Amino acid sequence: MIPEIEKATPQEIQAFQEGKLKELIAYLSENSPYYRRVFRNHKISTSDINTLSDLTKIPVTTKEHLQHHNDDFFCVTKSKIIDFVTTSGTLGEPVTVGLTDKDLDRLAYNEAISFACAGIQEDDILQLTTTIDRRFMAGLAYFLGVRKLGAGIVRVGAGIPELQWDSIQKFKPTYLIVVPSFLLKLIQYAEAHGIALDTSGIKGAICIGESLRNQDFSLNVLAEKIRSKWNIELYSTYASTEMSTAFTECSEQRGGHHHPELIITEILDEHDRPVPPGEEGELVITTLGVEAMPLLRFKTGDIVAAHHTPCGCGRNTLRLGPVVGRKKQMIKYKGTTLYPPAMGNLLNDFSEVKSHVVEIYHNAIGTDEILIKICAPKASDTLLAQIRDHFRSKLRVSPTIELCSREEIQQLQLSKLGRKPIGVIDRR
Ligand SMILES: [Zn+2]
Repeated sequence: MIPEIEKATPQEIQAFQEGKLKELIAYLSENSPYYRRVFRNHKISTSDINTLSDLTKIPVTTKEHLQHHNDDFFCVTKSKIIDFVTTSGTLGEPVTVGLTDKDLDRLAYNEAISFACAGIQEDDILQLTTTIDRRFMAGLAYFLGVRKLGAGIVRVGAGIPELQWDSIQKFKPTYLIVVPSFLLKLIQYAEAHGIALDTSGIKGAICIGESLRNQDFSLNVLAEKIRSKWNIELYSTYASTEMSTAFTECSEQRGGHHHPELIITEILDEHDRPVPPGEEGELVITTLGVEAMPLLRFKTGDIVAAHHTPCGCGRNTLRLGPVVGRKKQMIKYKGTTLYPPAMGNLLNDFSEVKSHVVEIYHNAIGTDEILIKICAPKASDTLLAQIRDHFRSKLRVSPTIELCSREEIQQLQLSKLGRKPIGVIDRR
């Protein structure tokens, strides 16, 4: 099930998106208090926006705009909203996003084609190992997508490896929807309880929240670790509540595919100018077909690179590489620019390190410092020296490393809404 537009030529895809963009501008001019104001203040009329490159005439929308003018982004009355969700608010206050009946259909379509992209078919059963409630959009999207695809779903929810394995054995799911590091917990549980991984019936995992690959699409340390124990296919996905759209890997596993009927993507530099093709920049999106809270040139805060070559799967849509990091968490460290995920990835190389939190702060002279707090019950001076050497050779930085108890780390990782644990604490 590949939508026709995804097999079209890049020129056809662009023309298609330009038609959708014009519809969006007309819709916003009619219904969005926020964008009506932007258009008025910048003297933009609907006839000014005809091509994708015309987008640069419109100011970008930031997370702060969403936070400060949340209600003004709604294009429909509250009575039309069916589902209320909030963004995770890992950086600042959470934003409320509402979905109408039509938006829920769009979300279902998005997730169905995303699952299909990863090769999931009608006779597959997916086990959901993440939460479906807690004002989260993702869990509901998975459910709706599975239903639309005609596949099956077991909603186990987050945690509880025992219940996960009970469900795997009882319902024989073929795929897991899972945070990759939780796969390690499932493996540990299976090993401790004599459960055979090879005959579990699981073919693959739709992975969320953590990166699986390096920028060249090779598996990162975490993914290697999983694959060395459990030979299942790992598919990366990238999505967010604001986008209401997912970028999911296909069988080629070379980046998450763009769905041109759902979203327009731009990759911009720090001056909000498009970067040359293939270079890293901030992902900026424009939603298509969203009724309640459409977004125009929304800055996601995520640094990624787009890949434009046609894909072996038959789709000609662009693919997003692994998220390099969050723009706000960019660290300038003695002339080097880096992002926290790269540090987490390096720490995964040390099996002695059970958990960790990266803290970033400004030192007395106002430059960035990195403090890595690790829980490593069997740590020796040699281990700490090895970690420091590893950082020096791979990232050219040598952060301060502090040993902490398991409880201290857990306390730091606690997030307000009980979603995924916090890995980075930015004190700048
Ligand atoms: Zn592909």
